[in-house]
Amino acid sequence: MFETYAALAERALQGEPPSERDALWILDGEDVALLPLLQAAFAPRERHFGRRVMVHVLNNVQNGLCPEDCGYCSQSRDSDAPIRKYAMKPDEEIFAEAEAAARAGASRYCMVLSGRGPSVAATRRLAEVIRGVKERFPIEVCLSVGLVEEEHARILAEAGLDRLNHNLNTSASHYPDICSTHSYEDRVRTLVAAKKCGIEPCSGLIIGMGEESRDIVEVGFHLRELEVPSIPVNFLIPIEGNPVTDDGSLTPERCLRALCLMRLINPAAEIRVAGGREGHLRHLDALSLWPANSLFVEGYLTTRGDAIDDTYRMIRDAGFEVEGNPASPTPEIGAGFRLDGDRALLKPDVARDA
Ligand code: SF4
Repeated sequence: MFETYAALAERALQGEPPSERDALWILDGEDVALLPLLQAAFAPRERHFGRRVMVHVLNNVQNGLCPEDCGYCSQSRDSDAPIRKYAMKPDEEIFAEAEAAARAGASRYCMVLSGRGPSVAATRRLAEVIRGVKERFPIEVCLSVGLVEEEHARILAEAGLDRLNHNLNTSASHYPDICSTHSYEDRVRTLVAAKKCGIEPCSGLIIGMGEESRDIVEVGFHLRELEVPSIPVNFLIPIEGNPVTDDGSLTPERCLRALCLMRLINPAAEIRVAGGREGHLRHLDALSLWPANSLFVEGYLTTRGDAIDDTYRMIRDAGFEVEGNPASPTPEIGAGFRLDGDRALLKPDVARDA
């Protein structure tokens, strides 16, 4: 059986995906052993990214008020979730939040706007904000703004946008079960428009929405076909008031298997353990760093996540390092201690009291 894991790793190192049969086995096989699978997924992760972890901070720049009906989203017209709704934040507020993300050591600042997609006028305003952030702070800028046509993508590309996110979310055949106001093909068109204009596309999925394993496999292969270099893997956060809620399929092990699958199908892509990391992976959270090389900190669109210090501590305790920004703070490691490099030191005032 161990040849199977070695063969999966070897194929990924050659840039080849597993067969569809093996892909389904990774998700469903009763004889899958988790640690060898994680090790197989770690081989391409280490080849392409070493032990580095990219940290992303999300900013919900515009919240709620969306005319679309994505059933998993608390900002949709059909959701009764009690969220705070607001139009696009003032520019200065967005700059202040970008500065905070840069100071906290994040590699990327991801601005997310609810809605079907921006008008040309709204795209121009966003372009000015992107220019402003890039001029002021050493941080890459990503944007998630709904459906985008080539006309909009060109404006954003000229402003220096690094990445445009638009998740496929689930397979084409499962898509009508989660949304009726736009199609899977609309989402694919957005990614193609971004790429055509020279913006890196970022696209992933949400697992736990009543899909079958073959749907997850299908999305993984389609992202590979579209050559998407950045893949967020979300685990549905069940929010009361949303039409689509947790289907009960998500265990920490299933989440890890799904992350391994995405890594093995897309060996060189940035695989991000995204929404739902803390709640669904729970005590196995740190193991996600074997297949994934990227994560969000400080929460998601309408829910909180682990604080940045906790996440940095988890990364370092697992033997990985935060990528890039030398400004990343030294984390606190529990009452009375601080980290100095890899050493835990008692804080001076505590030492005095001891
Ligand atoms: S996912 Fe985006 S388009 Fe869909 S309802 Fe939420 S904000 Fe609107």
